[in-house]
Amino acid sequence: MLKTKRQGSLIIISGTTCAGKGTVVQHLIQRNQNLSLSISYTSRDMRDGETNGVEYFFVTQEEFEKKIEQGDFLEYETVQYGKYYGTPKKEVHELLEQGRDVILEIDVKGAQKIKEMFPETILIFIMAPSMEEVKKRIKARGKENNEQIIKRFQVAYQEINEIPKYNYVVVNDEVQLAVQKIEAILLSEKCRVDRIEEIAVENQEEIIHEFLMDKDFDNSNSFDFEV
Ligand code: 5GP
Repeated sequence: MLKTKRQGSLIIISGTTCAGKGTVVQHLIQRNQNLSLSISYTSRDMRDGETNGVEYFFVTQEEFEKKIEQGDFLEYETVQYGKYYGTPKKEVHELLEQGRDVILEIDVKGAQKIKEMFPETILIFIMAPSMEEVKKRIKARGKENNEQIIKRFQVAYQEINEIPKYNYVVVNDEVQLAVQKIEAILLSEKCRVDRIEEIAVENQEEIIHEFLMDKDFDNSNSFDFEV
């Protein structure tokens, strides 16, 4: 009776530094068959433990600029230290057309650009429970120098100011709980009235007639409404 839109939903997940959004997204992808993660392109260096085509497609600055000229990106930004990050247009369109829901794990500026292009995008912001916790997580990583850590904090504070532009905010104090909250968001988004393409009640009279003529159904007192 209800025909909902076949096209998948676009979901943006952004978050402050060390909010654990990567882990939350991995859990979401593993647990939900219809979810795909869009893999961005970047010109930043590959970090230890990263693989080309898994976390990102790693390209040079020149290769990235060529792709910009070719119009290959839905959006792109210079996010950190002048390095490019961009969402591939063709791959995302193809996934949505197949009816898959697509997660973009991108920054606040990129999120706004996508929202302008696709107003139905679901924007979710993931936060660490506190900045104290962020400090602990950065220290535990131990990978960055003081200058980089200060830069990360500055960006985090700027991004927190942008939360009102999002539809949902999820505090990641416990990964499983954060994942469940996002699944609940996605489930309720599926039930939104504006996802309905068509409400069809076909052959109303025929169906009522068949129902009244149905021998298996004792309709002798169907209209005996008590007043
Ligand atoms: P990292 O270098 O730590 O993997 O990511 C740095 C930032 O870049 C993160 O905030 C991440 O969300 C953002 N980012 C990753 N891919 C994209 C993208 O395609 N577009 C935009 N605008 N931001 C991205």
